[in-house]
Amino acid sequence: MFSLSGKKALVVGVANDQSIAWGIARAMRNAGADLAITYLNAKAEPHVRPLAEALGATLIEPLDVSVAGEDRALFDRIGREWGRLDVLVHSIAFAPRQDLQGRVVDSSAEGFTLAMDISVHSFVRLARLAEPLMSAGGACMAMSYYGAEKVISNYNLMGPVKAALEATVRELASDLGTHDISVNALSPGPMATRAASGIAKFDELMNRTIENTPMHRLATIEDVGALAAFLACDLARNITGNVIHVDAGAHIMG
Ligand code: NAD
Repeated sequence: MFSLSGKKALVVGVANDQSIAWGIARAMRNAGADLAITYLNAKAEPHVRPLAEALGATLIEPLDVSVAGEDRALFDRIGREWGRLDVLVHSIAFAPRQDLQGRVVDSSAEGFTLAMDISVHSFVRLARLAEPLMSAGGACMAMSYYGAEKVISNYNLMGPVKAALEATVRELASDLGTHDISVNALSPGPMATRAASGIAKFDELMNRTIENTPMHRLATIEDVGALAAFLACDLARNITGNVIHVDAGAHIMG
């Protein structure tokens, strides 16, 4: 099978043990990677630090991508500690509740812009900071959702945000390919996480998905972790620029 032994992986987006990023961090650690794990702020730290410590993370650092300079400080720290980086996992998204739960046509410029900045452009910034540390190649990945492709009830503003993320993944894959850096989007099916609780009637979306998927079940954070770990290994070096669904087949159904 594949191994991440000796690989240095930065995982951004662990909030708790239901986070998709937690499934990814665990899978990468199980495959042998050394981890750097971030927490949003002082309020989040007590929830994230014990999880990161349980995985023996080398670095446990703060990162709020909306705070100027925190991303650079993180990458400086990674540079000092490891001198390189092999894997970047971006598993974060945000939209102000009022904009998220209203119609897109009513969304505010401020809410739309903030959602795009935190959920999309932050991936650009992190990839740019990762590039010089990935001089021997690397793998970058971000989390999308099917609402990028089709209108999903109540996904609202996050539809255009994820569509922009997927287009950005293709552009970054094109930009960074010459440096042997792959860039992919993973597109998990609905999962009961903190971020998902901000989406109206999310239970209904999960139930509808179970009914409609070929496999009549939901994918899990472990499923996403397994795919992310594979994408991070050397065997996956020619897989780039994709949106890969991990959703028990939900996206193929009409
Ligand atoms: P989650 O709440 O566990 O994770 C979201 C993370 O975003 C949190 O760790 C939070 O701290 C972080 N975040 C928000 N604002 C930030 C900022 N300014 N700086 C740094 N971090 C910030 O929820 P999740 O469902 O695991 O979400 C992870 C990713 O997966 C998101 O991109 C989400 O859109 C995507 N996704 C989720 C689902 C789902 O159904 N849960 C499905 C497909 C894709």
